Amino acid sequence: MNFLEERIVNDGLIKEGNVLKVDSFLNHQMDINLFDMMGEEFLRRFEGKGINKILTIEASGIGIACVVAKHFNVPVVFAKKSKSINIDGDMYIAEVESFTHKTKNQVIVSKKFLGPDDHVLIIDDFLANGCALQGLISIVNQAEGTVEGIGIAIEKGFQSGGQIIRNLGYQLESLAIVESMDCETGNIVFRSQE
Ligand code: 5GP
Repeated sequence: MNFLEERIVNDGLIKEGNVLKVDSFLNHQMDINLFDMMGEEFLRRFEGKGINKILTIEASGIGIACVVAKHFNVPVVFAKKSKSINIDGDMYIAEVESFTHKTKNQVIVSKKFLGPDDHVLIIDDFLANGCALQGLISIVNQAEGTVEGIGIAIEKGFQSGGQIIRNLGYQLESLAIVESMDCETGNIVFRSQE
């Protein structure tokens, strides 16, 4: 097991409805030393790709993205969730359905902060059905930038997002891929990675 898989086994909680709760170290209380190790590992996996910007989505992607960005020495832009329909032409907009809240949000990024010269690494905490990622990819495409890669902390391999995104041809690197988890027994099985 790698460092993140070990942490999930030790401190993660499996909830009904295929939800893995990792709020003691990843997305509520945040273990910055763990994020630092994640940043180091993403740098190793995406080395040489010319990444000059990191894109994530609020809220829980932001903490991880900031620490990862320190390793790449590049700025972070986060897509903001917006209820307003009254958005002027200065924004890229995508529609994202939340896996955890089952609501639809528009996410927006200012045109000032993303453009054709950007070689983007997308970072997020979870990958489930891939809606959040597809929204972020759409925003980079609208900006005519390049998605150089996608880095995820925890992928739930039994949901469809990973396969959809890999089939689109993106380099998707997830530090822990959960193959199955059982809320009754607490058992978690990870996909083996090299
Ligand atoms: P997707 O758009 O891939 O279906 O879901 C991704 C988003 O849903 C992530 O940004 C994350 O915030 C949330 N999410 C999905 N599955 C889980 C889960 O099992 N646990 C937690 N804590 N968040 C999840």
